[in-house]
Amino acid sequence: DQAFSHGPGESRYVESKRHYEKPIPISDLVYLDRERCILCDRCTRFADEVAGDKLIHFISRGNNTQVMTFPDEPFVSYFSGNTVQICPVGALTAKPYRFKARPWDLTQQESTCTTCSVGCRTVVQSSRDELLRYQGVDSDPVNWGWLCDRGRFNFEAVNSDFRLSAPMVKLETGLVETSWNTALRAAGSMISDALAAGGPDSIGLLGGARGSNEDAYAWAQLADAIGITHRDAQLGDGLPVEILGLDRATIDDAANANTILLLGPDLKEELPVLYLRLRDAAEKRRSRIVEFATFETGMTPYAWKSVRYEPGEQPDAVAKALADADIAAQIASGDVVVVVGRPNLAESAEATVAALQALLATVPTAKVLPALRRGNVVGALTLGLAPSDADHDAMATLTAAAEGRIELLVLLGADPLNDCPDADLARRAVAGARRVLSIDTFACESTQHADVVLAASAYGEKAGTTTNLEGRVTTLAQQVTATGTSRPDWMIAVELGLMIGDRSFGSDHALRGVSTVADVTALIAADVASFAGATPEALAAAPNGILTGPIDVTLDPVVFSAPGRNRYDYRLVVSRKLYDRAVGTQMSRSLVNLAPGSAVHVHPLDLDAIGVADGSDVKIVSAKAGTVMPIRSNAQVPRGVAWSPFNQGAGTIEDIVDGQTTTTDVRIERV
Ligand code: SF4
Ligand code: SF4
Repeated sequence: DQAFSHGPGESRYVESKRHYEKPIPISDLVYLDRERCILCDRCTRFADEVAGDKLIHFISRGNNTQVMTFPDEPFVSYFSGNTVQICPVGALTAKPYRFKARPWDLTQQESTCTTCSVGCRTVVQSSRDELLRYQGVDSDPVNWGWLCDRGRFNFEAVNSDFRLSAPMVKLETGLVETSWNTALRAAGSMISDALAAGGPDSIGLLGGARGSNEDAYAWAQLADAIGITHRDAQLGDGLPVEILGLDRATIDDAANANTILLLGPDLKEELPVLYLRLRDAAEKRRSRIVEFATFETGMTPYAWKSVRYEPGEQPDAVAKALADADIAAQIASGDVVVVVGRPNLAESAEATVAALQALLATVPTAKVLPALRRGNVVGALTLGLAPSDADHDAMATLTAAAEGRIELLVLLGADPLNDCPDADLARRAVAGARRVLSIDTFACESTQHADVVLAASAYGEKAGTTTNLEGRVTTLAQQVTATGTSRPDWMIAVELGLMIGDRSFGSDHALRGVSTVADVTALIAADVASFAGATPEALAAAPNGILTGPIDVTLDPVVFSAPGRNRYDYRLVVSRKLYDRAVGTQMSRSLVNLAPGSAVHVHPLDLDAIGVADGSDVKIVSAKAGTVMPIRSNAQVPRGVAWSPFNQGAGTIEDIVDGQTTTTDVRIERV
């Protein structure tokens, strides 16, 4: 900055400089300018030692030494943006930020990424009231300065032209923009009408994990006041809220444990920086990882033992592993952490819960780190957006709506048409609910069916707090002005509550008196036992956040058994990739083309048995429905299993998944 402002204006270096073709795109997101490179080795060491993606290295010798990718191998890494951040001379630049602003023109605040539940600390940077860059902050207990590329570059979605800038109501011509007063009155009338027609049980509230703690708390309070029983911050893709009542591990606990038992999804795809932390634990030989998975994951190369199981056999695989002498001896050495999430969206969550309970029965001292994916899912579930029981969770709510028992479906940043494993149920639910109220940042597919849409402020446009998977509460910063007249979700809940009068907050309800987000944060600290220390003052003094404890719920014993199947069927695995058709990715210009697309993957020998060529279209038929998509040969998928990534657009696998069954078996036919 000083040289730019006060320097001599021209260089004293008169010798001939090196000239290379520039810039070279070494990946979809990163450009390399070799003339600037000082060969410091930071990017190559990061890619090799931290990310485990040995895709950039030095080539040639002496004066000709330069950083380069291997021939025909782009720098395809979920962590490539970190090399840009640590390059000291700007030789590596990020496509989404390149030449948008000078670093010294940016203003910034510390915040937390809410794209997934790891909760990486960031600085949010802007220029002229536009978000332009996120940089990782060295938070010792969480992300050590690293971010994944999805979390780093999806600021483009906040700036998207497709953001909702004003509330809308549905007229005969479709959704049209209106004033907040009109929209809130219409929303209030819908709530009153639903209460009059079917009582509080006829209202369903889905979502809340996208927003802040304050958003979730205010909506949960409104739901309590109205008496809404059908509510859930997950969309049939998580685990029962009761796992948050177990003895909770922190990320540091997991990354320093003797043994990590991994019952979760592919962490590299779903919780990328947690993957970096656990990979480091294994590489530095602090921890031994015992992974339970159907096929190879990003963690498999670093796992001490990788136990394979077929969908539906997870509890049996755990029981067998616990009987293995080596694994039993390793567990007996003490200090065990179980990382548990949802590995397969085409299989009931009960399989994973039963496997977890088998582990905890053998290792009752083990701590549990919940690997739930949605950004603020732990905060939302803890602060009141958890279902009271399985009869009122997201799948039960969608079923009730599909059967015409829901008068009003409230979608709080939820897009069930794209984000629920059972797409058919979601479609019937959205069509079957008499009215739909959507509170969202984008006109997503589910929002198009709404009768009233309330425009919500996005990440970076509102302050507050968030809770990560450990239960760590950290601050969120408002760095730019909210788009149009959009408002924070908590403010919408309070205004709506005041609008609907005596069916809502009582005259002495504390939310009646709030005027700032800090008021709501203070109210949560006063009202929710596990958030007792998380006052605005304490959070301001604790950049690494404040840990909340387990919540007061008990996980009942689960008995799980999978049905048998015939040898012509394939047992289906549906799991997430880092890039999918989620709205934050679709609306980010640099990320939108990174989703791999719909396909079903089978073992090469199964491909031969089906008698089709790699890449050709096949029909996949479950007991529920059929869909057509390309088939891919994939040697990592075991025989008899078919794997398809979740939420990848047209011809999606969600069309044939039945959210009510324990496992999903499919036939694969030539078309
Ligand atoms: S970090 Fe930058 S300067 Fe250092 S080797 Fe890599 S490209 Fe060159
Ligand atoms: S790991 Fe999750 S929280 Fe961290 S940067 Fe990526 S998306 Fe954001």
